[in-house]
Amino acid sequence: MAVPQLDERIIRDLSRVYGSLTERIIKRLYTPPRRLYVRVNTLRATRNEILELFKREGIVAYPDEYVEDAVYFEVKGPFNVECPASGRIIVDSRTAVSLMLGADLYRPGVLQSDYFRKGDLLLAITREGALAACVKTAVSYSDMLNMTRGLVGINVSSPYKAPKITETYVYARGLIYSQSLPSIITSHILNPRAGELIVDMNAAPGGKTSHIVQLSRGRARVLAIDRSISKILELRSTLSRLQLDVNVMAIPWDSRYLHLDLNLHGKVSKVLIDPPCSNLGVRPLVESKKWSVVVNLSEYQKQFLKAAKELLKPGGLLVYSTCTITFKENEENIVYAIEELGFSSSELEVNVPYAERVCYKDMVAYRYSPLLNDMPGYFIAILVK
Ligand code: SAH
Repeated sequence: MAVPQLDERIIRDLSRVYGSLTERIIKRLYTPPRRLYVRVNTLRATRNEILELFKREGIVAYPDEYVEDAVYFEVKGPFNVECPASGRIIVDSRTAVSLMLGADLYRPGVLQSDYFRKGDLLLAITREGALAACVKTAVSYSDMLNMTRGLVGINVSSPYKAPKITETYVYARGLIYSQSLPSIITSHILNPRAGELIVDMNAAPGGKTSHIVQLSRGRARVLAIDRSISKILELRSTLSRLQLDVNVMAIPWDSRYLHLDLNLHGKVSKVLIDPPCSNLGVRPLVESKKWSVVVNLSEYQKQFLKAAKELLKPGGLLVYSTCTITFKENEENIVYAIEELGFSSSELEVNVPYAERVCYKDMVAYRYSPLLNDMPGYFIAILVK
C-alpha cells in the first residue's frame, strides 16, 4: 500500500520549527491522536448531561480537564486490517481519515470504484493508494451510482476505532459538534461578546461560527463568509441542526475583497481567519503534500490578513488559526502582518491549554504539536490592529 509523502522542502521548513524533533513529529502525523473530541452545545445541554446521554447509548465519554465545553472519546488501535476483498473503492481524504477511525462509508466520500455486488468486501483506499479500511458494501454498484447520499459500506476492519458519534441521538439532536480541541480553543481565544460585530472570513462548515454564537449566547452579530456556495448551505444546516442560527448572516463571498465590497471598513470588532491550509496537522496524514502548494497557500492566506486590517476598528482583534504546522503558513504570515501591515502581536495572560507558546521576532503565538500532548498539529496567533 502507498504511504503519503512530504516533499523535501516541506521537511526542511518543518525542521526550522522542530529541529532535531522533526523526524519524530512527522512519524506522529501518520497516526490519529489518542483522543477524539467533540464540543458540547452548552446552550442546549450541560456537559454532565451529555456525558450521561452518551453513557446511555453505551459510549464512554470523558470531560476535558481544562476546556469546559470539550468532551473526548478514546481512540483504540492500531489494529491489522483484515480484508479478503474482491475489489477497491477510492475515497476522498476527509473520508479516508474517518474510515481509518472506524466510521462507515457514505456516498459523498466515494470518488470511484471497481464493480461490486451488495455484500462484497472492498478495500477503501485514497486516490494515492493509501489504505483506509475494509468495508462490506450495503448496496449494489448500480444502486451506488444512482445515489447522492446514504450508506455505501459498513466498516468491518479499520486500523483504529473510535465511537461512531454521528450515529448517536446526542448528535442528531444537535447537542454536540465534532471538532478538534485546538479548534474549540480558537473560539475561546476570540472570546466573542454581546454587541460585537465579528467577521468569520472562512466560515464553512461552521464549527467556529457556531461556537462563536454559542459563546456570545447569540448576542454577538456574526458575519460568516465562505467562498463556496455549497459550503455556505452546509454551514446554514449546521447552524440550524445546533439551533444556533441566531444573529448570523452567512454569505457566499470572496472574503479577500470584503472591505472593498461591503460597507464595513473600520467597523468590525473582531475577525477570525481560519484559511485553507496544507492541513498537515490533520492526523492521520493520508495525502502527500507538495512544497509548491504550501507556498501558494501562504500567499493566499496573506490576502485575508490584508483584508482583515481594513475591516477592523482601531484596537480590533484578529485571531489567525490553521490546522497546519509549516513555518511558511504560520510564523511567516504573522510576521508579515506585523511588519508589513502594522498589526501588533498579543498574547493571553493565562496559559493556553495543551499549547506551546512560541516566540519569533516580534511575534508570540501558540502551537499544538503531535508530540507534546498528542494533539493535532495546529497554530493560533492573536493580533491587534
Ligand atoms: N472555520 C471553518 C473551517 C474553515 S476551512 C470551521 O471551523 O468549520 C477553510 C474555508 O475557507 C473553506 O471552507 C473554504 O471554502 C474557504 N475559503 C477559501 N477561499 C476563500 C475565500 N477567498 N473567501 C472566503 N472563504 C474562502
